[in-house]
Formats: sequence, C-alpha cells, structure tokens
Amino acid sequence: MRTIMMLIAFFLLSTAVAEEYEYWPGARYDASIPSVEDVLGYASGERITWHRDTVRYFEALAAAAPDRVRVYRYGETWEGRELIYVVVSSASNIARLDEIKANMRALRDPASTSRAEADRIIANQPAVTWLSYGVHGNEISSTDAAMMTAYHLLAAGNDPRVDEILENTVVVIDPMQNPDGRDRFIHRYETAKGLLPDSDRISAEQNEPWPSGRTNHYLFDMNRDWFMMTQPETQGRVRAVQEFYPVAFVDAHEMGSNSTYYFAPEAIPYNPHLAADQRASLELFGRTNARWFDEFGIDYFTREVYDAFYPGYGASWPSYFGSIAMTYEQSSSRGLVVRKYDGVEMPYRDTVRGHFVTSLGTAETVANNRRKFLEDFYDYQVSAVEEGRSGNVRSYIIPAQRDQAGANKLAGLLVQQGVEVGRATSSFSACGRSYDAGSYVINLAQPAKRLVRTLLDPDVPLDADFLAEQERRRAKKLPDQIYDVTAWSLPLMMNVETDACGRTVSGDFAAAGPDLVLPGSLAGPTDAAAFLVPWGEAPAIRLLANAHRQGLAVKSTDKAFTHDGTRYPSGTLIFDSADNPADLRDLLAALAEDTGATVTAVSSTWVTDGPNFGSGNVVRMNAPRVAIAWDEPTSQYSAGNTRFVVERQFDYPVTAIRTRQLGSADLRRYQVLILPESYDGYAGTLGDGGAENLRDWVERGGVLITVGNATRFAADPSVDLVSIRREDAYVDAAVTESVPEAADEEDPKATVAGTIIGDDDEYATLTTPAETGPDSVGGVLLKARVDGDHWLGAGVSESLNVLARGSDIFTPARLDAGVNVARFESADDVLASGYLWDDNRQQLAYKPFAVAEPKGNGYVVAFTQDPNVRAYLDGLNVIFMNAIFRGSAHARPVR
Ligand SMILES: [Zn+2]
Repeated sequence: MRTIMMLIAFFLLSTAVAEEYEYWPGARYDASIPSVEDVLGYASGERITWHRDTVRYFEALAAAAPDRVRVYRYGETWEGRELIYVVVSSASNIARLDEIKANMRALRDPASTSRAEADRIIANQPAVTWLSYGVHGNEISSTDAAMMTAYHLLAAGNDPRVDEILENTVVVIDPMQNPDGRDRFIHRYETAKGLLPDSDRISAEQNEPWPSGRTNHYLFDMNRDWFMMTQPETQGRVRAVQEFYPVAFVDAHEMGSNSTYYFAPEAIPYNPHLAADQRASLELFGRTNARWFDEFGIDYFTREVYDAFYPGYGASWPSYFGSIAMTYEQSSSRGLVVRKYDGVEMPYRDTVRGHFVTSLGTAETVANNRRKFLEDFYDYQVSAVEEGRSGNVRSYIIPAQRDQAGANKLAGLLVQQGVEVGRATSSFSACGRSYDAGSYVINLAQPAKRLVRTLLDPDVPLDADFLAEQERRRAKKLPDQIYDVTAWSLPLMMNVETDACGRTVSGDFAAAGPDLVLPGSLAGPTDAAAFLVPWGEAPAIRLLANAHRQGLAVKSTDKAFTHDGTRYPSGTLIFDSADNPADLRDLLAALAEDTGATVTAVSSTWVTDGPNFGSGNVVRMNAPRVAIAWDEPTSQYSAGNTRFVVERQFDYPVTAIRTRQLGSADLRRYQVLILPESYDGYAGTLGDGGAENLRDWVERGGVLITVGNATRFAADPSVDLVSIRREDAYVDAAVTESVPEAADEEDPKATVAGTIIGDDDEYATLTTPAETGPDSVGGVLLKARVDGDHWLGAGVSESLNVLARGSDIFTPARLDAGVNVARFESADDVLASGYLWDDNRQQLAYKPFAVAEPKGNGYVVAFTQDPNVRAYLDGLNVIFMNAIFRGSAHARPVR
C-alpha cells in the first residue's frame, strides 16, 4: 500500500523536462551515473547500439557504481565478440553474490537442504531476475532497452520501486545474446541509410539482405538451441544461468511491425511437464506489465500465438529448473523508424521503451513476490523429486551400445543441463534386462526430473483440446496453430537406444561428467600392416576428415569383413602402413585421442570373411573439395546449419559459393556440391543454364547432394537431375468422382457450367484451393529403414529417425534409375514421435528419405528432408557424411 501511495505522489509531483523523450515519465536521474548519451554521444533510442558500444556502456556503469554493478564475460562468439552479463543489485547484495548463488544451489537441492534450512535461507535471500535480450540479432530494440533498464535501476533515485528491486532482488542483464547477428544487422542498416531514416517498408534499409541478423555466425536460430547447445553462445548461457538459478527469466524479442506488444501468460499448448504453479505465476507478471501499459497507453496482447511447448526456447528451457520463463515480444521498427500499415510512424525509441517498461515491471514483480517465488522454487524441486520417485517412469537407462559415442554425448548433454547421471562401473540388472558396465543411469527422483522427461520421453503429448481445434481448422483449410516442431526426443534424434524403467535403479554408479566426447584410443601390435577404424559413429567421421586434411592415404570397405575374430562393419576405414608416412601410428593415436575414435592396429591384412583390402569392394577415399550453395535463394538455416555440421562437428572445410554464380561457374575443382533448402526454389536463380551446368559437372564425376526441399529442383521434370518426383496430395478417387466437373480452364466464356452441390463433402471439395500438395507438417520424427548394401548406407543404423517438416513427399526411385537407400516405414510404423496428420501418415509410408542415383561418372544424392536441422539430428550424421565422403570416393571423375 505504501508503495502505491508513493507511486501516485511520484507521478503527481514529477515535473520532467518537457522536450526530452521520457522513458519513464517523471524519473529524475542521478547525475553521477552516466547515461547512454554521456558515454555514447546520443540519447537512448536515437541510434541502434553496436556490440562494442553496448559493452563500453556497461563498463562505464560498473566504473561509476562498482558497488552495485558487475560485468561478467560468459563466452565468445564465432566472430570473436565477447558475451557479457551484467549484475545489478544493492551494494550489500553485490558484496555477497557468491553466497547468494550458493544459496540458490542449496534451494535447488532438496536432498541436502531441509525445508527448515530452506526457510532460513529464504528469509534473507534476494530472488534473481534474469533479463535476456536480442537472441535474434535483428530484433534490435531490446539491447538498447537493456542499457536503459540498468541506468534506471542505478540512477532513478525518485522511483520508489528501484530501492525495493535492488534490496529484494538481483537483476542479471544479458544485453545481447547474439552479437554477431546484431552487428551484421546494424552494419547493413547503416550502409543503406541516406539523408533521413526511411520509414518506407520498400526502402533498402528496411529490407535486410541474406543472411538476416536473426541468426548467429553459422546462421542458427539460437532460440531453438537451448537443450542441444550446439553454439558457443548457448553453451555459455546455459552455464551462466545455472550459476544463478533465477526465479524469473525473460527472453525479449521483436515481432512484425504491425503488431503491438506481447507478454505472458503464454498461448496454449502448454508442455505437460511444466508445474501448475509456474503457469499461475505467469499471470502475476502479466498483470504488472498490463498495469504500466495502461498507465502509459501502450497496447498489448497475451495468450495468443506464442506458446512454450517446445523446450528449446529461452522462454521455456529455464522452466525446467523451476524458473518462471517468458517471452516478451515488441513490434519492430526494423530501423530507426517504420511506417505501419495504418500510416502511423513508429520510431525506434518507442520500441526500446516497450521492453524497458516490461523489464522494470518484471523486476518489480519479483521484488514484490520475493518470498513466494523462492518458496515456489524450492517446492518445485521437492515435487520434482517426489514425482520422479513415484511416477510411471522412475529411471532412464542408456545401455552400452553400438553408437557408444552417441550415448556418451547424450549423457554429457544432460549433465551440462544439471541432470545427475550415473555411469555403471559394473554390470547390473533393471526392469528385466541386464546392462553392461559403461551404461548410463538417470534416476528420476532428482530436481531435473521434468527436464529429463521432456527431453527423453519418446513423445510429449499435445493437449487434446488443442489437437481437436487444429483438426477443425485443417478441415476448414485454415492454417494450424502449431508454432514449431512437435517432436524433439533426444534418444530418437540422436538414434541412441534408451530404456525407460518403472523402478529406481541401484548399482555401482560413478557420477558421469559433462564431456560430450570421450578420448579415443589406438590399440594393437607395433608392427602394424594396417590400422582399422570401424565406421558408424561420429568420431570415426571426424577421424576421416582430419586424416584427409593431413593427406593420409585411406581406403574403405563397402562390405563387412572379419579380421582375427572381430567383425568390422561396412564402411570401416583402412590405413595401410605401406602407403602412409613412417609415423602413421603416432598420427593416428593423436587423431583417436582428439576425435574419440577407436583405432585397431593389425599385423596382417588377412581376413577370414568378407573382402580383402585389395578387393574391388574396397575403395580409395579421396579428400573431396566440398562446396555449398550460399546466399539467395537458399534457406539461411539450412545453408548455415549444414555448413556447421560439416565444418564444426566433423572438422572439414566447406567452400560457400553464391548461388547465382553456380549457373556458370567452372565447378571442376569441387567433387561435392550441397544444395541446401530454399524458400523460393532454385529454378529462378539458376535458370536453364544453371541446371545444364550442374548436369555437366555431375556427369563428369561430381556428387550433387540435395537437402530437403532442394530436391524439388533436382526432381523437377524440366531439370531431371534425379528420377524421383514430388507428389500431390493423395485424393480418394471415390470422392472426386462424386463432385461435378469443374469449369474447363480453356473455356473462353465469361460464365462457367452450373453445379449442384449435394452435400458437405462436395462443398468442401469445391471450396478447396487449387493448391494440390499435401498439408504442411510442423515437425515430426519419422522412422526410416536403411539399405545397408549401398555405400550410402555403409555403417548406418538399420533404422533412422528423420525430422519431417513441410509438405514434400516424393515417389520412390525405380531400381533401374537409383536406390532408395533410406525409405519411410509402413503407415502403421512410420510415426516415431509428434503430431502428424493422418493423410500425411498414409501417404508418407514407404516413400524415400535418401536416394542415390548414378549419373554419368557422378552421383546425385537426394535427401527429401533436411538431415542437418539445427545440427541436432545426430542420428543422421553418418548417412549425410557418407554422401560427402563415400559419394566422392565412388564417383569417377578424371583425376
Ligand atoms: Zn525473436
């Protein structure tokens, strides 16, 4: 009550300087704290602030108020920009920051912190609010809002909320989650600018060139990366956030210019692994934000569009350690000013202000509910442990397995996210099965139980009401409201066998560590005739890539063989001592250590079954020069993420070539060309000449790899680089026949033939748009079966899980044209996880995922879905890298 009275007085008495734009009307700022203008030379919102200037401003704040501000570095981007977070609180809280962090770790761990102890901690513990900005670099306003927020908290002595926020809370500000993307945006915006900032949407400065600033250097959407942590920015954040365990976490974004402002409560569907009180708390923040927006006359909406079903968002991942995580979305000015469709000009500073007001509103909500949020946080851990102890799934077990490197990576990923994982030091039995030493065990009676369930369960169900509504909308040909993929199960995506068990498992377990790759080794006699590396795991691919870069001679078998009683799979690498430098053993031992691969030295090349190393079934591997189509019209995600997988997960360089140059470029230097997915298709950019150029190059021995919808281009009858064809939606003949004949398109008359519509079905058919493709799918995991006899399937698991999105379905190749090396399972078995329209399920059955077709001396390898989405489909790594390394080994260019 006292606060409200003070706030009223604050507004009535305040007499602000009239000319200045007021971020918070009536605020009077302490002159000893530097403003944005003092440090950077322009008022907040007058320019879009660069990364280096943002860092400079926060350092100036820390220099002016070292007792209340600390700046920490938490990582570095691919382009070398530093990632920082800034801690703002009262001097007494800052002085005991380590203790505050230790207290949050104690509240996170109810096994060692009793309720009485928790109560004692909570009595004297500030709650942490985490405000993160600009994960999408072209969503510009939030970073400038971050600076204003910190400034206000330190300098607005007459805002009575400030003292309460600083006393009751610690505010952590991550001002720029994506520096590379933001600076990319600013550079190109500034480059296009003229005499005045242009508000016209058709102006160059309002239209970013490819790739947009949304993504980081490797063109990732980092707001999907939180649980797979493929990017250094995400890795740093996951570490930093777990140092503080904030009770509230905001991820500030921008949306289309014609929108208003969005904040929590979020839209349905809710993830069922969220706790009920987390949902209820969202409303506390929403009401505070709404109160200030009413005060200032700012429009907003809640509960629509933005859901948190997928756990890889900034606005969802922190929920799984007990935080209240939210996305805030400000309509974007896309520059210094934009003209909305209604004619209103929206300047940048208005958008900065939107995020500034909600940032303060968020910190205020935490300050006013400090005790409740801390108690909820502790209760969240207690109930998670209890659910894990009593639920239908009480443990997950990752057995020692064929792809042990995949199992190790999965365990390490979980550990990095705060999951307790045990590694068996001896064999044990559980749920009717025995497990070898080296198996991993995750007992769910632990605080991270809900995270484990949402990441490892084969399926996370969508709410039945939500699904019914989507089917209703689909029947009416309205777009569905599924915002992202509906399947992300890590064991399926990584193709790592994982068992659920209804019991808590006991045995001899050592705590597993956070490493994603365990060192490999080289074993066997020193008088080696050859060294063998079994194929089928990521480390062997990394070893091959590095061996190629070092110029080592390597061969590979297309068929499995037995040597000295050991069975080696097809694809096994063979390094002959005679063909390689004298220090081959040392070179391979170092590569094994770094890559995690297992190398076996053999003193004789004699095999007891399968092809000898000089057989026609053994091919010489050549270090291919690999190119990828870059720039318009490629999808920046597909181009960037594919390049990342090859370059950073497998250490092999890729040359990016702008697509428009592919039409006429001499490609003979390259043995492999990857066409990533495309928004608009390649036909317009490449033209007939481009298709001809690619065909010539393939026929001379090139390997063309089409990714996802790039296969449309290769499969277009006018291009015909691959024999498969894209299908229309299947239509039941009985339904079509009952519908009266539509008008003849050639009919020159102004009117068309009369119809009688007899029932709802006929009406639906007649009103269906001429668009003939299958309905689009948000993202599901489908099972595919692999033909291991083909080199593209060498060492690949017999069964793959493919992330299927969009509407593409292709006919299978006829065997005289090529081989369907991976094809989807039958309609009954095809769906591994997620929500799939029944018509699509029926039509996708038996259709191809990966097709290899010889063409002249080269090959076309067509993937009908993108195997490299978000670089998180590890289970598809081997087949994709086979296309590169084995495709070029089997092609026959003139060398
Ligand atoms: Zn965004």
